[in-house]
Amino acid sequence: MKEFARKQRDENRIVGLVPTMGALHPGHLSLIKQARQQCSSLVASIFVNPTQFGPSEDFAKYPRALPADSEKLENAGVQCLFLPEAKDIYPPKYSTYVDVEGLSERLEGRSRPGHFRGVSTVVMKLLQIVQPQFAYFGRKDAQQAAIISRMATDLNLDTEIEICPIEREADGLAMSSRNVYLQTGDRQSATVLHRSFQAAQTLLQNGSRDALSLQSAMHRVLKQESRAKVDYVEIVDAETFEPLTHINRKAYVLLAVKFGETRLLDNMLVDFSDTGELNVEL
Ligand code: AMP
Repeated sequence: MKEFARKQRDENRIVGLVPTMGALHPGHLSLIKQARQQCSSLVASIFVNPTQFGPSEDFAKYPRALPADSEKLENAGVQCLFLPEAKDIYPPKYSTYVDVEGLSERLEGRSRPGHFRGVSTVVMKLLQIVQPQFAYFGRKDAQQAAIISRMATDLNLDTEIEICPIEREADGLAMSSRNVYLQTGDRQSATVLHRSFQAAQTLLQNGSRDALSLQSAMHRVLKQESRAKVDYVEIVDAETFEPLTHINRKAYVLLAVKFGETRLLDNMLVDFSDTGELNVEL
């Protein structure tokens, strides 16, 4: 992989990396599409990274679909599929980890201890191996994207981290490899997530900037679905992920909700133009 990437750079190609865990869907392909606009050599990686799964999480049953994934990547114009094995990424005596303090401890970090340490370590390794000019991540996993951006800045990496919009199903559900776990009833119920964001969006558009009012409105919508078990609904500063009480700067409205055994994440980006005009991205 290092040799291939070095050759691409020597031949003055702009190398872009799209790291994934496979079971590819249009969300992943949207990252590749954006990468294609900026880069002349695309590398996608598929690696179900054991260190980011907790002991009782779904590592063993995480969906794997290699032949179909490989075809999708080729059709999308990816030149190189990097498929490392766990024994190569974490050989015996492996002992170096990257910890992005603070940011990694909140929200997802609290619900999944050690998760982000695994994520930042594997992404750091992928970036070291490929040394791309650009690497692409989805806003779907907003906290992960913020942590990786922080890591790239803090560790003086030469890679620019690009954060891409959320790709959704027609009914608003954010695409995710884990959506295949949803039972039929739960899949239908999961549309409540999008409705809860729409309720918050309406309040924002009507001038409310009070985080608690938005959170309460979202909880009220989510309560309408008895199958939805809310883990958190939070409003945070988009860079530090510190909770906000008053929404007066770039912020994320984030939630994690369980349907049966399946935990879904989604978020909405709130931003303001220089003239103070509100901009909401679902
Ligand atoms: P994963 O394979 O789930 O680790 O995801 C690989 C990359 O795709 C991550 O940067 C995700 O944030 C991104 N991604 C996953 N789902 C979506 C989506 N619905 N829209 C945009 N990006 C996504």
